[in-house]
Amino acid sequence: MHLIQKRKMDQYLFPEFYKKADHIILSKESALSNKPRILIVDDDKINQRLLQGLLADDYTIEKAEGGCQALTMIGANPPDLILLDVMMPQMNGFQVIRELKNNEMTQNIPVIFITALNSVTNEEEGLKLGAVDYIKKPFIPSIVKARVRNILTMVRHRKLLENLAHIDGLTEIPNRRYFDLALHREWHRALRYNNCLSVAIADVDYFKQFNDNYGHASGDRVLIALSKEISRNLKRPYDLVSRYGGEEFGIILPKTSLNKAFQFCNTIRSAIQQLKIVHEFSSVSENITISIGGATMIPSKNTEPSAIVEKADSCLYEAKNSGRNKVEWTCHDL
Ligand code: GH3
Ligand code: MG
Ligand code: MG
Repeated sequence: MHLIQKRKMDQYLFPEFYKKADHIILSKESALSNKPRILIVDDDKINQRLLQGLLADDYTIEKAEGGCQALTMIGANPPDLILLDVMMPQMNGFQVIRELKNNEMTQNIPVIFITALNSVTNEEEGLKLGAVDYIKKPFIPSIVKARVRNILTMVRHRKLLENLAHIDGLTEIPNRRYFDLALHREWHRALRYNNCLSVAIADVDYFKQFNDNYGHASGDRVLIALSKEISRNLKRPYDLVSRYGGEEFGIILPKTSLNKAFQFCNTIRSAIQQLKIVHEFSSVSENITISIGGATMIPSKNTEPSAIVEKADSCLYEAKNSGRNKVEWTCHDL
């Protein structure tokens, strides 16, 4: 796969790493190094330094002196692991982890408590709140190091599996499952910031006739070529194209107005026709074409993310019924 395309695809698959687009700028150091990032949250500077000294060779260390500061830092740039003290003024560690678990953007970041609270009840509470481990002070450095390493290895494996589970086997672009997750995430992000969201469904015209006449394997190659062409046209890290169904592609364009989204999809439609893949059995063109239905909305609390897909789908139906090889769009609540 071409390097730029691969990088673009990575941007869809590893959104955490590319979140810099909106408001997040990775520190130069951690952007350049591939070291996992650990946030140490402790009001005691001596403890902070002790942990930092222990882990700094293998990880990029960031530090917060209290719960509120930690939440701000995590929200802006989620770390790979959090080492969290329990007893801190203002906001204690248990309150911090509750906040993290309540937020879908942060709920999967592993948390290890490192605390002087050493009763069984406290340990049980910490683990029940969702911490992956509970280490009591005074800690044994080599054991902290080993536990951190084991947990980060598990996290890396989980992410690899998640990424594999989110790729479509034929086209190697994100699959329907990832589309649904991304739609949910972008819908709620748009709701929070009162932004508009655009979603489109693209469908190959007369694809059954193509398969019937040129064979299923050629049809597969068309789907691969179209995936590449649409991916190549995506400009921003948050934009997403996925294989939505057999010969359908789902496109998510966050923070994109009706006009821009329409224009963008029309560019894609035209780019696909310009690939000049022969289709002598199409009634609309001598080449492979696609029809696109799209919708732009500002999400509201009373609506489900699926609403925007349904609207895009109705427009796709219109595009098919009114000639194919065209883009039909609708906007709601704008
Ligand atoms: P329309 O213009 O109305 O969309 O007509 P169409 O023929 O494209 O639509 P229809 O729903 O009748 O047929 C879809 C075709 O897409 C049938 C199916 O064989 C083909 N298809 C779906 N998934 C795949 C796939 O993974 N590979 C191949 N080669 N073909 C596929
Ligand atoms: Mg179809
Ligand atoms: Mg079709």
